[in-house]
Amino acid sequence: MVVRLGGCHCGAVRYDLAGDLGLIVNCYCRDCRRAHGSAFSTVTLVSNTDFRVCAGEESVREYQAGTGSRFFCERCGGQLFNRAASMPGLTTLVIATLDKEPIEPPRIHINVESKAPWYEILDGRPEFQALPPVHSRR
Ligand SMILES: [Zn+2]
Ligand SMILES: [Zn+2]
Repeated sequence: MVVRLGGCHCGAVRYDLAGDLGLIVNCYCRDCRRAHGSAFSTVTLVSNTDFRVCAGEESVREYQAGTGSRFFCERCGGQLFNRAASMPGLTTLVIATLDKEPIEPPRIHINVESKAPWYEILDGRPEFQALPPVHSRR
């Protein structure tokens, strides 16, 4: 089985992930944009049972906001993963935290209704105003 490794910017928090990545999406919601300080976040859904913080758990901080929680490193502020109340059993993993990032591009754009007016989506992939009908595993 493939085991992927990843962590925060400073290296205090490390995780491992078994199994495949889910569909990779760009999320344009206001919460992601504010939390990441960027035009969008690129994330995928993985099973909680496949995902494990293996080092630096004491440095992981939880920020509860709106529909779920965001988890980040207290030392470097790096956004690591989210958990939404509406998706029990699933972790939304920030793709950029993987040591070996996937080469495949994001497949869809979600929460485009909250997109920044200064950013334009140009790749022609499907756009969803909110969440698509099946925002889940491939
Ligand atoms: Zn860190
Ligand atoms: Zn978002």
